[in-house]
Amino acid sequence: MSKFHDLFERNRLWAERIKEINPDYFLKLAAQQNPDFLWIGCSDSRVPANQLLDLPPGEVFVHRNIANVVVPSDLNCLSVIQFAVEVLKVRHIIVCGHYGCGGVRAAMSHENHGLIDNWLRHIRNVRRLHADAFEHVHDEEEALDRLCELNVIEQVHNVCATTIVHDAWHRGENVQVEGWVYSIRDGILKELCSRGPETVDQNPEGEVEIGTAAARG
Ligand code: ZN
Repeated sequence: MSKFHDLFERNRLWAERIKEINPDYFLKLAAQQNPDFLWIGCSDSRVPANQLLDLPPGEVFVHRNIANVVVPSDLNCLSVIQFAVEVLKVRHIIVCGHYGCGGVRAAMSHENHGLIDNWLRHIRNVRRLHADAFEHVHDEEEALDRLCELNVIEQVHNVCATTIVHDAWHRGENVQVEGWVYSIRDGILKELCSRGPETVDQNPEGEVEIGTAAARG
């Protein structure tokens, strides 16, 4: 039997287990989704949104990519944010990174990784932007942890600077954007920063100013 066959068997047993507890579960879920949260996280198989939040299907709208990066040219990510905010009326956006992120680690190395180096460029820019934070960090693992955190904070900035969140705030919608980091070592989430409409401070270029003080220390 192939590995794929195993998955169908696991799926069938899972659906049966749920229906035993709640016979109408799938019928209710099929009628609509009404998630409270948008999760923007890393594709890493060890960081599954629903499982680590202990939330069932239907509760979290999810976008994942390598190293939880949000860039204004990524139509995929922007479409997810727009659908979440404007159609599903999600008011809590979580950008969640994780310590020991392979994407962030690759961005710190000088090796050639091929095409993905174009994506990792966004993380290298975060490091360049926060070069002063690494001045006194000589341990490579400590530098990795620091860059994982700063990457989350920068991506929160990028979410807040999207036309979608920006416009939502100007409509008076209370969209909150949080930056979290997850530890694979103990399964625990930590908050790094939090931004809402009250923190908007427009400069002449129309960019949203986001401080990073919350993550220091
Ligand atoms: Zn990762």
